[in-house]
Amino acid sequence: MTTPDLTDLRALGYDETIAFAAELGQPRFRGEQIWRWVHAQMVDSIDEMSNLGKDLRAQLKARATIGTLTVAEIQTSKDGTRKLRLETRDGKSIESVLIPDGEKTTQCISSQVGCAIDCQFCATAKLGLTRNLDAGEIVDQVYRAKKLLAEVDPGRRITNLVYMGMGEPLHNYDHVLSSIRTLTNDLGAGMSQRRITVSTAGLVPRLEKLGQETIRPNLAVSLNASSDEVRDRVMPINRKWNIGRLLDAIRAYPLEQRRRVTFEYVLLAGVNDSIADAARLAKLLRGIRCKVNVIPLNPHPGSEFRRPTPEAIEAFQNECKRLGMATYLRTPRGDDIDAACGQLANRSNAEALVTLRVRSPDIAPIA
Ligand code: SAH
Repeated sequence: MTTPDLTDLRALGYDETIAFAAELGQPRFRGEQIWRWVHAQMVDSIDEMSNLGKDLRAQLKARATIGTLTVAEIQTSKDGTRKLRLETRDGKSIESVLIPDGEKTTQCISSQVGCAIDCQFCATAKLGLTRNLDAGEIVDQVYRAKKLLAEVDPGRRITNLVYMGMGEPLHNYDHVLSSIRTLTNDLGAGMSQRRITVSTAGLVPRLEKLGQETIRPNLAVSLNASSDEVRDRVMPINRKWNIGRLLDAIRAYPLEQRRRVTFEYVLLAGVNDSIADAARLAKLLRGIRCKVNVIPLNPHPGSEFRRPTPEAIEAFQNECKRLGMATYLRTPRGDDIDAACGQLANRSNAEALVTLRVRSPDIAPIA
């Protein structure tokens, strides 16, 4: 058990870790040793920090803990995808998905408990938003998964990270950015920012802010419609920042050389999957260095939408290609265990979550 008033070392950034050590009267190199234990060795207990003296370890233990999540459940799909349900120290559930794909293994991580964005086709939306995850909880998802993988599939490493699990990462901007800084720190997990993707439903002011940061993850944008009329309906956030404003922000986004923005386009039968949609999409995206991931809807209980037929999916994709768009069809991964896009809803305790839902005061309005 962890006590809530202890500092989670996994939640501190590099400078904060050095400062934390300094508060205990320790020089910089001690802070750095602690950082390495927490983020390179990924130890779960202060007792394992064998190059620190006993007194310092005791001091640390009185003030701090490492990691707050517990792996509550692991489900394995017949395609090898694994879904982890993790519990936070206040008893909330989040999900994280490990997707093997050839040499690559991608982890899809959550940024919030639930989500406030209310996309009509997404199961997570039905939960509403409970709270933001802190940076430690985001980072801990990765370390828990790394350790799990080391046990069950030692030949594999997590190569790519996508912030595409539960939640809207840009709605939890500071913690998400802090988690990326931690995960890319060379003295710690040392992941490459080129292998990290942040996906957003289109929070335009935050997207503009992201463009000004020194850290530059890849950007994915959930577009999901070719007209404001449809996008207003399926993604209510469009009423705040419509397609025009969103694409203006993306045009102005300082993309690094040889990088592309990814547009996600969930195909909904009879809603956004026509040949005319493909034509409008091509026109909208003209001049943007991008690729389009076409994601046929993954159904979930209570969803009013349907997945198009294989013929309709193919026709849409062919038209996109004919119009010159780099288009990739995403085959659902882990859908037999509700681990595919838009299916993360803590199925085993979704009802409990909905009734317990409270809006915590530290969550800013969507702006
Ligand atoms: N909030 C962020 C991160 C979630 S990513 C965002 O919107 O980008 C989840 C991706 O899955 C999004 O591109 C979303 O459009 C897609 N998605 C949501 N529900 C889906 C469903 N039922 N079937 C297929 N894809 C879905």
